[in-house]
Amino acid sequence: MNELPFPPIFLQRLAAIVPVERLPGVLRSLVEPKRVGFRINLLRAEWQAVEQALRREDIPFEPVAWIPHAYTAPPEARSRLARSPLFASGGICLQNLSSMAAVLALDPKPGEEVLDLAAAPGGKTLLLAQQMENRGRIAAVEVIRQRLYKMQAVLKTGGAAIVQAYLADGRAIGRKTPERFDRVLLDAPCSGESRFHADAPDSFARWSQRKLAECSRKQVGLLRSALDAAKVGGIVLYCTCSFASEENEAVVQSALDTFGEAVELEPIPLPIENLQPGLTRWGPREFHPALAAAVRILPTDEMDGFFLCRIRKISGVRGRRPSRCRDRRPGRV
Ligand code: SAM
Repeated sequence: MNELPFPPIFLQRLAAIVPVERLPGVLRSLVEPKRVGFRINLLRAEWQAVEQALRREDIPFEPVAWIPHAYTAPPEARSRLARSPLFASGGICLQNLSSMAAVLALDPKPGEEVLDLAAAPGGKTLLLAQQMENRGRIAAVEVIRQRLYKMQAVLKTGGAAIVQAYLADGRAIGRKTPERFDRVLLDAPCSGESRFHADAPDSFARWSQRKLAECSRKQVGLLRSALDAAKVGGIVLYCTCSFASEENEAVVQSALDTFGEAVELEPIPLPIENLQPGLTRWGPREFHPALAAAVRILPTDEMDGFFLCRIRKISGVRGRRPSRCRDRRPGRV
């Protein structure tokens, strides 16, 4: 482990988060090339035609058993997929399976009103639109103008017809549109720990524990806004591509402290074995037992690491004051 190029403290922390028997696989995933995840964009193409075109182009692919119309291809197929006419026309989207899993965990339905609070470059927004069969409305919020433009281009190519894009700070949205959305996706800006790769020193050059604390502060504000914006009975899916509990469990704990019994965490059934329940302890810090309902997807040769937490808003109390969590039944806070 010491000869890996990552910051030693990052590696020590990883060893404290990931179960010991899983650690070698997780470390391997940060060093070896990954298989490419992609999916057919049903807003633009029919799956039979895409499979035929891939065979014609002699691009090898394997279906993913648990995600309809999703596939993986060997790492060396990435550039051929990205140069393929199918990609240029929006018929396929290159997307990691963990990103697809986040949208599946939110489970948006046709006709609903959905908020995507940190949306660019729009990969998950496009899958939301597909799952909603382009019926209903998606408000997609992004704070960086150039990234918003990129997202608009992705959504246009992909045929998403129900998205309104907003250049705004997501932390202000809950105050502006309280209790409005059926579902909210918060794919939060984060340290990107699970995207670190030995071959890309830039991916981890700026990592520090101070950076984790900075990200955490922003994530707390965004999650509060997401929960304020969700209607009663609505669902917020909080996710990051970081391993750090400061960016994951601690952020959800802060929402539990603020919203108390107005929210509860729900299980996320994913039919994969590279999962770990949310931590209920990190060093000296204890988290609410309900956090075990969250999941950490451990990275593999085809999946990025991800943290997912599904939060249902069960009453309309807008939380700005801390309240104590009670644990009256499993998963209830
Ligand atoms: N969901 C996107 C996708 O799947 O394509 C990726 C989202 S990326 C993890 C997080 C995004 O949040 C970045 O584009 C970042 O610029 C944006 N962001 C950062 N701070 C924000 C804020 N305060 N409000 C809204 N968006 C923010």
